Amino acid sequence: MKVTEHLKAAKSTLFSIEILPPLKGKSIQSIYEGIDPLMEFKPSFVDVTYHREEYIYKKREGGYLEKVSIRKRPGTVGICAAIMNRYHVDAVPHIICGGFTKEETESALIDLHFLGIDNVLLLRGDSIKSEPAFIPEPNGHAYAIDLVRQVGEMNQARYLHEDINDMAPTNFCVGVAGYPEKHFEAPNMGSDLKYLKQKVDAGAEYIVTQMFFDNSKYFAFVEKCREAGIKVPIIPGLKIMTGKKQLLGLPKIFKIDVPEALADEVEKCETDAQVREVGIEWCIQQSKELMAANVPCLHFYTMGSSEVTRRVASQVF
Ligand code: FAD
Repeated sequence: MKVTEHLKAAKSTLFSIEILPPLKGKSIQSIYEGIDPLMEFKPSFVDVTYHREEYIYKKREGGYLEKVSIRKRPGTVGICAAIMNRYHVDAVPHIICGGFTKEETESALIDLHFLGIDNVLLLRGDSIKSEPAFIPEPNGHAYAIDLVRQVGEMNQARYLHEDINDMAPTNFCVGVAGYPEKHFEAPNMGSDLKYLKQKVDAGAEYIVTQMFFDNSKYFAFVEKCREAGIKVPIIPGLKIMTGKKQLLGLPKIFKIDVPEALADEVEKCETDAQVREVGIEWCIQQSKELMAANVPCLHFYTMGSSEVTRRVASQVF
């Protein structure tokens, strides 16, 4: 089922999760161990992130350094197929521009279509750590909207370089990302919303937000989106704080604010176990307020901590 069909059929706020593929060489068992405890809350869909290659330097004989390209977390498509097969829950692979040519994207989408995976979350991806800004692949896409357009073409049975009749259309439901605290590269919120609206006008059917810890930012974002003419469902993304390091790490990586009240509570903690309790309580309150406002779905960034997600879900679903 498509994400939008789940949202339309819902009588109350849905539950969904995002997981990361395991590190290369690790077993898929870790994925199942993360999802099993959350199945009692009947996730409507499970997103699986995509991680592009990174470059590392390996020391070789004679002392010279070789630049090597590695993918630390491969397996997104395989994990999606495994999840659908094992749990009969819809999987949503993330597809990114970074590192892909248009042809490679097309091949990945054909694989997904053949596997019966009809949902995709389309993203630009971040720059490689060694690059100061995002550089598209030669013959690749520069922005998420270009991916939305490519999928739109395939949904109309138009493939790259082919102009013969009788092509089978794909049937993808497309989600895109939105940023309640603005995407860090956008010069201002107005500009970010303009491009978000373009993604929706190009065919995106729903938006999933970046994590936020202050619900007022989400509510203000939804209001601004509606004013800008963006009418699709906007699913809030939630992360539970689980360690003291995240107080500095999350704002640095995801360019978001941690509200003073939460930061003060975390700073008082002496152990990460105490931080987890603070994080769980904060997220329960966030979730309850969002559900009271009838948000379509609560989408949890589990980031390898399904136990804390289970604790929150058990209090709100
Ligand atoms: P875009 O929509 O392309 O926007 C990028 C920036 O360019 C924005 O500042 C926007 O305002 C601007 N912009 C957009 N269009 C134009 C245009 N035509 N001209 C000029 N400027 C423009 N990353 C991964 O690598 N893998 C994942 O699995 C992943 N999952 C994510 C899931 C969610 C829900 C979210 C919120 C983020 C995720 N990310 C992931 C991170 C994401 O790739 C980064 O935030 C990336 O920097 C931006 O992606 P985007 O799709 O929002 O980009």
